[in-house]
Amino acid sequence: MISKAYKTELDPNNVQRTLLAKHAGVARFAWNWGLARSIEEYKLTGKSSNAVEQHKQLNALKPTEFPWMYEGSKLLKADRFFPSTKTCSACGVIKEMPLSERTYRCDGCGLIIDRDLNAARNLLSNVKTNQSRGTEVRKS
Ligand SMILES: [Zn+2]
Repeated sequence: MISKAYKTELDPNNVQRTLLAKHAGVARFAWNWGLARSIEEYKLTGKSSNAVEQHKQLNALKPTEFPWMYEGSKLLKADRFFPSTKTCSACGVIKEMPLSERTYRCDGCGLIIDRDLNAARNLLSNVKTNQSRGTEVRKS
């Protein structure tokens, strides 16, 4: 039974909105590419490759055939010591959070929020404020 529910919304800025749209476009292309490949293979052999095989094939083609796909698969990485779980997403107070504690209760402002939702909000605002300092890595 769900005793508490949270409603949250993303509020992406223009840069983030563009990245989200690019990501969706790349995901759509990958899906359609895999589907076309499956149909083609099925017509020729009566069988089609599975998702893992197709993923490998697409990744092999990416650098030469579809380099633009990297544009849609950028990952912003937070510093590994960024205290996303320990920080109050409303007021910024930092406190210890044992893993067993699933709800964040802020001593500073009284916020009571799901542990993971609090961490997600902190990571989102970390991306918003530190976008230029964030480490950009390519997914393979
Ligand atoms: Zn707080």
